[in-house]
Amino acid sequence: MQQCFTVQKSEFTTKGNLSVVRRKEILRTLVELLVDNSSAICDALNDDFSNRAPQVSLLTDIGAAVSTLKHALSNIDKWVKPENHFTSPAILGLFGARAQIQFQAKGVVGIIVPWNFPINLSFGPLASAIAAGNRAMVKLSEFTPQTSKLIEELIGEKIDKSEIAIINGGIDVAQEFSALPFDHLLFTGATEVGKIIMGQAAKNLVPVTLELGGKSPVIVTRNFDKSLAAARIMGGKLMNAGQVCLAPDYLLVEENYLDEFVDELMKQVKIQYPKIYSNPEYTAIINDRHYGRLMSYIDEAKASGVKVIKIDGDETPINSRKIAPYLVINPDDNLKIMQDEIFGPLLPIKTYKNIDEAIAYVNSRPRPLALYYFDNDKNAQDRILNQTISGGVTINDVILHIAMEELPFGGVGASGIGAYHGKRGFLEFSHQKAIFKQSPFDNFLLKATRAPYGKVLEKYLEFTIRK
Ligand code: NAD
Repeated sequence: MQQCFTVQKSEFTTKGNLSVVRRKEILRTLVELLVDNSSAICDALNDDFSNRAPQVSLLTDIGAAVSTLKHALSNIDKWVKPENHFTSPAILGLFGARAQIQFQAKGVVGIIVPWNFPINLSFGPLASAIAAGNRAMVKLSEFTPQTSKLIEELIGEKIDKSEIAIINGGIDVAQEFSALPFDHLLFTGATEVGKIIMGQAAKNLVPVTLELGGKSPVIVTRNFDKSLAAARIMGGKLMNAGQVCLAPDYLLVEENYLDEFVDELMKQVKIQYPKIYSNPEYTAIINDRHYGRLMSYIDEAKASGVKVIKIDGDETPINSRKIAPYLVINPDDNLKIMQDEIFGPLLPIKTYKNIDEAIAYVNSRPRPLALYYFDNDKNAQDRILNQTISGGVTINDVILHIAMEELPFGGVGASGIGAYHGKRGFLEFSHQKAIFKQSPFDNFLLKATRAPYGKVLEKYLEFTIRK
């Protein structure tokens, strides 16, 4: 790891930014590698999860990464162009001065990847980092050993380690990785680990992008088709069995709409997943630790006397790590299910009397990665947008703002720092160098700012410092 870092660093120091031609070659290679090996990658992911449908992996991991890489490929020529700006004062421009931003690669970028979408969350950041001309080292998750090994082999065959290096290993490797003096470090993972990463990075003043998690709320109103809202919410919640950073974490439903809406949620689950345990399209939980964590939330909720509804079609569990969808009605805020990010197929539902109460509830908690709002009324939508703070928002659906390549993706407060995707990702990994080129000729204004001062400066200051 240390050797890879030293090589990448010295290559960057001697050769500078990857050329735009080379960046495009690498981005194309990454696309080819994903397309050519998509079924092997789906198999590896299926092994790692013990059951994950190829459709889920193709849609959320491989397909999403290919789209992001292609978006970078088609926009890179536009992104790298230096930006000319007005001089201040503008008159300096008339005398021949120029103000410009040039985009320079930061150098060697570190990327730390979680287990839930190992392709999307490694190739996505790579698209931005390479488009900006950096070299990159990627630390994959120890919880997806088959997929991590395959990515290491595939990238290792096609791209030199001095440009992209894949590092695999456990927590000790992760800790050593996060202590490297990168030129930028992007971490995707849990909020608590994000704090440790930021602490490590601070020792070398490494700038960070932290893509964290949290409890993303869904506010449901009557002003949207009930079946469609329930279908979209459960579709998003149960995709990858809720192991999605943007999964709806809890619902806020109007008090007198609760029973109707719960019935509809249950109906939609049966339509999408008539069977759970024997259904190959229903993803298993990544490992025993997370399985135990999720089941302990249910046990605690039941023990507290809260109503818990299991939706499983009365089957006998045959996959030891599949958890059926559960709805947990009005759990107390001190229960774990309302404290921790759930990251699984459990959905607490809290009721509200009026929308002010729902907004106040969201605002009383740490700032979420996403907020979802179902309501066709434009004024009501604007109100939610103005009165709540979250990394992103999808209105009348869930999760999909992440798929918009031109929108920045990132959290705020406890859900993260910084953003990437599209041009915003290119900028995150670029040093935006401010360049002022002075005219070779002197002029009365410049002369006036040097001593001995006189009337011209006096006039200029009178003109500038006024209301
Ligand atoms: P995690 O934080 O446990 O691990 C993420 C990565 O960090 C892994 O590669 C791991 O090896 C490494 N790591 C763990 N402990 C470390 C330490 N002490 N020092 C250095 N590195 C360390 O997260 P996870 O369980 O893999 O993923 C789930 C979390 O990720 C959830 O909180 C989820 O919301 C979040 N997530 C966020 C996004 C996003 O884009 N915002 C996307 C996916 C997942």
